[in-house]
Amino acid sequence: MILEPEVETRPWDEQLAFDDVSFRKQLAYLRERSPFYRERLVGHDDVALADIARLPLTEKRELRTAEAPLGTHLCVEPSEILRIYSTSGTTGRPSYIPLTAHDLENWIVGSARSYAASGVEPGDRIVSTYNAGPFVAGAALASFDRIGLTHIPVGTGNTERLLQAIDELRPDAVVSTPSYAAHLAEREPRLADSSVRRVLVAGEPGGGEPAFRARLEEGWGAKVTEAMGIGDIGVSLWGECEEQNGMHLGARGFVHPELIDPQTAEPVSLEDDASGELVLTHLRHSAAPLLRFRTRDHVRVTTMDVCRCGRTGPTIRCIGRTDDMLIVRGVNVFPSAVREVVGAFVPEVSGHVVIKPQAPGVKQDPPLPVAVELADGRAADARLAEAIREKIRDVLVVQTRVELVPWGTLRRSEYKSHLVQR
Ligand SMILES: [Zn+2]
Repeated sequence: MILEPEVETRPWDEQLAFDDVSFRKQLAYLRERSPFYRERLVGHDDVALADIARLPLTEKRELRTAEAPLGTHLCVEPSEILRIYSTSGTTGRPSYIPLTAHDLENWIVGSARSYAASGVEPGDRIVSTYNAGPFVAGAALASFDRIGLTHIPVGTGNTERLLQAIDELRPDAVVSTPSYAAHLAEREPRLADSSVRRVLVAGEPGGGEPAFRARLEEGWGAKVTEAMGIGDIGVSLWGECEEQNGMHLGARGFVHPELIDPQTAEPVSLEDDASGELVLTHLRHSAAPLLRFRTRDHVRVTTMDVCRCGRTGPTIRCIGRTDDMLIVRGVNVFPSAVREVVGAFVPEVSGHVVIKPQAPGVKQDPPLPVAVELADGRAADARLAEAIREKIRDVLVVQTRVELVPWGTLRRSEYKSHLVQR
């Protein structure tokens, strides 16, 4: 379902023309209201959206100080703030995300477009497994109301409650992190015959890895699509449609996407197969707008063509976190890419992997140690370890040392998986 066809199928060039107008207004707003950006925009008068790469990037660590917990880029009076979310603090202590009523509304609209892309329709029943609590996921849950879904929240970590809801309420869809969806599929084979026809995954990368996705789809007997947001910018900004060829920008008009090389920070143009770190700019934000914010998410553009669903603009896959990236003898290696290669060896292995870097920091000497968990009832054998090692070398051009470990020995996380262990 396309929630707003006139917006979502607008030719991308036309979208950029609209966005250019919003961008110039947003820059004028920042100059007027944000001491942080006023200083950084000196000498950058009247910049067009097409020239955005001339402007400085914003890093998360620059934004908050003990004296300014809502960020030095806050642009509104405290009384105008309707909601303050917190991040989960993956890069240090939790930080706060203030929103005005207008910001929250735009978040919900963008998120509703992204989730509607999955094919869920008004009246469908959806079970959610997020503990939204202090997190921006709360706004994603509000978007289910906007679509008109019958929302059944069960939260994380209460698998019995979830299974009972699936058995008794017969939902059409489940929304979950990919780790939790995989955990459930592994534990409960009967889910393959449940009423669930769609599994919507978000909250971490991985839902788009072909082998991992195939396992999820088999385990649930359902179609899997993914969504992705970034706390400081917006929730579920991107959402995948039923064509399953990457995520569309549901937040188009509110957010402008760019790619950069994470090492040099040079711009990378958005075209088919381009990859780089995703950089996002608010176009119509009020409370604490961000300009060229480094998301630390490394993505690949699957296509810039019009999708068969009718939506226009870039579609992307998240490859992994720039922060998780390792460099082994000059080659960039994402732990999620290693997991994807290993996934091709299911059912001999379980699909769980952990990378164990030997040196601190990003640069590693080969061979890179990789623990690969065997499938239930399989014994380690040297032939399998060698086949995995060769496949990783062929696909990712990196030398590894593959250690096969018994089934059930790698830590499962119900919420987010941890692929690197130091
Ligand atoms: Zn599509």
